[in-house]
Amino acid sequence: MLHITLFLFLSVLWYMFLRSFFSERLKFMEIKNTRLAKELRSLISSKKLLDLENKKLNAKFSDTLALYELTKDICRSLEEEKVFAIFSKSLKKYISIGDCRYIKEAADLIKYKDYTILPLNIEENQIVGYLAADRIPVADKEKFGILAQQLLIGLRRALLYEKVQSLTITDSLTGVYCRRYFLERFSEELKRSKKNKLHLTFLMIDIDNFKQFNDRYGHLVGDAILRQVSKIITEAVRQIDFIGRYGGEELSIVLAETDREQANFAAERIRQAIAMAVIRVYDEELKVTASIGVSTFPDHAASIQDLIDLADQALYLAKETGKNKVCFSPA
Ligand code: GH3
Ligand code: MG
Ligand code: MG
Repeated sequence: MLHITLFLFLSVLWYMFLRSFFSERLKFMEIKNTRLAKELRSLISSKKLLDLENKKLNAKFSDTLALYELTKDICRSLEEEKVFAIFSKSLKKYISIGDCRYIKEAADLIKYKDYTILPLNIEENQIVGYLAADRIPVADKEKFGILAQQLLIGLRRALLYEKVQSLTITDSLTGVYCRRYFLERFSEELKRSKKNKLHLTFLMIDIDNFKQFNDRYGHLVGDAILRQVSKIITEAVRQIDFIGRYGGEELSIVLAETDREQANFAAERIRQAIAMAVIRVYDEELKVTASIGVSTFPDHAASIQDLIDLADQALYLAKETGKNKVCFSPA
């Protein structure tokens, strides 16, 4: 009996011990669980915030990347004014902006007092102009800065090209003077003719049906024809005459100290030299002709522009009346 009582007593004690032990443990686990759940909730909300932030950054990155697309458009031109025209036209695609101008002279900025003014520095301390922009929203100011940087790249290219052009005398394809230098020389020669009371003749030469050669044999053959025709002409004129590439397949010549009658001889000689030549390009043997318009100082005109216009009209007449011929200014 005593044994049984003792056993029961011990069992009750064991049961109480176990109960208290496990209830403590359970409580501890519950607290831990609550803490973990809280941490989990906070992690989930942090992740949501991060996702949101990521989304915003991605959108901003794409937006910023799109801004650099402007460079492609701007770099289509190598002329300062055109570069700005493309810039200002494209600007509205990226930001909402009122008026935007390219101001060359600092003195003119006074007219744009309410505008945001950005100096355009091509190199350190070398301002080529100012960008004056009206009503840029605050949110777009950063974008505007990025876009203006691209305008600067375009302007730098254009100005560098202009500088290189001004240093170039000859046309790289044909080897004759480039148009700008030819016109400079033409102006000097005309002055000399006026001063010394000398005649001067201007010729405008245009290869006949040149487009057909390009279309049939390709541009490389077209280029080779141009090179060879320029060479033929160079060999057909005197040392004191000079030749320029006036346009695509148009060459211009100044025959110094040459009057109308002598001009007829010279122009005919050139026309015939071209028409008689067999132009060998790659495996082809080609026959090419050219039409020539002529104007003479002082018979037809006294200014470069008038001499050019009249030779151009004469060239048109030559084309209209059968090509492969020389025509004089109708004036
Ligand atoms: P026309 O007898 O009336 O003068 O006819 P055309 O075919 O010569 O005249 P058109 O003005 O129609 O074509 C001139 C062509 O010259 C078009 C242009 O693609 C080509 N051209 C201009 N510059 C160059 C060049 O540097 N290289 C080559 N290959 N072609 C050129
Ligand atoms: Mg032409
Ligand atoms: Mg032609």
